[in-house]
Amino acid sequence: MGPTVHVALVPENVQVDPAELMRVAAAVSQQVERDFSPLWNVNATVDPFSQLEEVPGSYWPILIMSNVQDAEGYHQDKNGQPFSVIAFHGQWSITASHECLEMLADPFGRQLHSGNLLDQAVQLGVQQGRIEYLVEVCDPSEDAQFSYQIDGVQVSDFYTPRFFDPEASPNTHYSFTGSIDEPRKVLDGGYISWRDPVSGDWFQLRMFPDEFSGNVPHVLNLSQETAFEKFIHSDGLRGASDRVTRPKYWQRRTETPRLSMAQRRTEYARRSQQARAKELRTHVAELIRSVRKSEQ
Ligand SMILES: [Zn+2]
Repeated sequence: MGPTVHVALVPENVQVDPAELMRVAAAVSQQVERDFSPLWNVNATVDPFSQLEEVPGSYWPILIMSNVQDAEGYHQDKNGQPFSVIAFHGQWSITASHECLEMLADPFGRQLHSGNLLDQAVQLGVQQGRIEYLVEVCDPSEDAQFSYQIDGVQVSDFYTPRFFDPEASPNTHYSFTGSIDEPRKVLDGGYISWRDPVSGDWFQLRMFPDEFSGNVPHVLNLSQETAFEKFIHSDGLRGASDRVTRPKYWQRRTETPRLSMAQRRTEYARRSQQARAKELRTHVAELIRSVRKSEQ
């Protein structure tokens, strides 16, 4: 395992309730340590900060902003250090988890993994063969309906290294929650990017309609039909992919039965935490009383 990475969660020109900020940082931190590290072999801490001025230089910041426009996603600063910008909205914890895990799996957003073309693309008539996938652990199951909860906070599902397996095998987890049940499969609302080594062009399979096609799924030639190639130089491969991929997760439909159940669980978790805090406070008050009594 390499050195420990430090990720900072920090609001920029937006009011985020400090308690919520800490709750999300604690949940994503736990996700990294408990769920992600054993599978992807990385060590990291995720810490909340109240403003950018307080973030130490060695941290990789995730900036939470209200008006992100096209800046949403992954970037590199002038020194080549990674940072991300995410939009502040009802599901921002899922996005924070998404950006954090992708920075950890591939800090510079340019790692490729060769594999067979995914079946969903073959079925659309794309010629079969070996291609190079961009390693983006959250994109195929990024939709909020596939997220899961840690202590009442929604976090993103992510794929495991087995995602690129040539064939399916029993008892294998292709994504953490098991939502992805076959290798190289993109779920509703998700996407995946790859390079065709023959033509050199970049492609994306999208499980959502966009300005290019209403078909779900459809394959888009990023090199020919978008400004992808132009963005590679400034933002790297992941940054370029983020720049040309719309709509993003929070704009999609989020009202699914699974998600409203998750929201109810958040409410339960919060209530049980409140009850525990009350109990602990009473306990401490009693402790102090009994210590005073014994001192008298
Ligand atoms: Zn992503």
